[in-house]
Amino acid sequence: MILLTCPNCGERNVAEFRFGGEYKARPKNPEGSAADAAWAEYLHFKNNKLGVQQEWWYHRAGCGLWFLAERHTKTHGVEKTYLWAPDPGTKKPGLDQPTLTDVQP
Ligand SMILES: [Zn+2]
Repeated sequence: MILLTCPNCGERNVAEFRFGGEYKARPKNPEGSAADAAWAEYLHFKNNKLGVQQEWWYHRAGCGLWFLAERHTKTHGVEKTYLWAPDPGTKKPGLDQPTLTDVQP
């Protein structure tokens, strides 16, 4: 059984959750013809990474919270889960630094 830790509810069976896809930063208001390409890349192209990737998860049978998890795509081991937060220095989405809401499984 795969367990996933909801930042709000704690450790639960993964069957309670819905996978929301890999995390990608949204395009920053691209202009002109670059807008279509940027949005197409954001919406339709995935990295399909082998290794630890950041992913969206939704606690559908629990609190209804969307959160991020760092999961190894081969072993399915979840390294940590946490709430999304903007990078405080640049006011843009950034997940390179841990936040105060990090939860270890
Ligand atoms: Zn929850």
